[in-house]
Amino acid sequence: MSQPQMRRAIESGVPDNKQYLHPLLAKNYGDWKYHDRPRPGVLRHVAHGGDEVWTVRAGTQRQMDVHTIRKLCDIADRYAEGHVRFTIRSNIEFMVSSSAKVAPLVEALEGSGFPVGGTGNSVSMIAHTQGWLHCDIPGTDASGAVKALMDELYDEFRREEMPNRVHLSTSCCEINCGGQADIAIIVQHTKPPKINHDLVANVCERPAVVARCPVAAIRPAMVNGKPSLEIDEKKCMCCGACYPPCPPMQINDPEHTKLAIWVGGKNSNARAKPTFMKMVASGLPNNPPRWPEVAAVVKKILAVYKEDARPWERMSDWIERIGWPRFFEKTDLPFTKYLIDDWRGARANLNASTHIRF
Ligand code: SF4
Ligand code: SF4
Repeated sequence: MSQPQMRRAIESGVPDNKQYLHPLLAKNYGDWKYHDRPRPGVLRHVAHGGDEVWTVRAGTQRQMDVHTIRKLCDIADRYAEGHVRFTIRSNIEFMVSSSAKVAPLVEALEGSGFPVGGTGNSVSMIAHTQGWLHCDIPGTDASGAVKALMDELYDEFRREEMPNRVHLSTSCCEINCGGQADIAIIVQHTKPPKINHDLVANVCERPAVVARCPVAAIRPAMVNGKPSLEIDEKKCMCCGACYPPCPPMQINDPEHTKLAIWVGGKNSNARAKPTFMKMVASGLPNNPPRWPEVAAVVKKILAVYKEDARPWERMSDWIERIGWPRFFEKTDLPFTKYLIDDWRGARANLNASTHIRF
């Protein structure tokens, strides 16, 4: 009897993306002469050999049900030569090889509720973390906050009327994913964790939790005759880092888990070096399903930036020019001592460059 064939392990990582590219993108890979934007939401790439590709960008809600994905795929098959791709901000892009196909594609997308835009100096789709749907530690629903906010910024997505591009992001805990953005909405815990002592011994590796705390605020302790943990609340900075390895360190709270707004971050090296965000508003209520207090602050900052910044100034360039005191005056945001960045571990430049150096 022959031996059953063992399946060979495939250790090649992610598949080669070229097999999924629109044929004209594959043909002209790395051989583009220039690109321009005939209208908001549409890019035209011209290859050295003369080929042209039009890309139409549309906004989605990112976390989509299968019916919505089928609808987008049907639009791709019918109006866009069967190819799509997603940008890192969860916009979907459709590629066509003729300018005549652009208008019907735009009409089909907008007619189905997908706004076309997100290019150039627009407010592009908000990059966001997983929220309640996928992660086990979120203090808010990033996706929900994004949907509510993008409903309000709909027109700014479809137009290119900002001084420069505006990247927003939302993070549903203080410590893990998320990134630098012109405006970021980030969870902010305001009370130390409440410890469920009955569960600690069964669920947590106590040394791992103690080691996890960045300010050494956690100590092993015996509580009610059981091994547990205790927190020095004077030291605790409410970061929530102890919660992922030890869920009984309950930090999420309907009242004391708030949202904060940070501004002025960017990753690119264009015109000025990358920058880190600074917190400008804190203690905003975590108020689903529409988070109106957060939306009001974000819209206010955007309105002042749009009005006051010079052409091509990113949010960080604008604040650098006018100075932080003027930023708070113009946006009517209260400045408090809690907004001062006094982390003593920071070096002057925090390695704020894409070149890693230690
Ligand atoms: S930001 Fe935090 S809570 Fe949100 S998905 Fe990432 S790890 Fe989970
Ligand atoms: S919330 Fe952060 S600072 Fe406070 S005990 Fe947990 S890890 Fe330490």
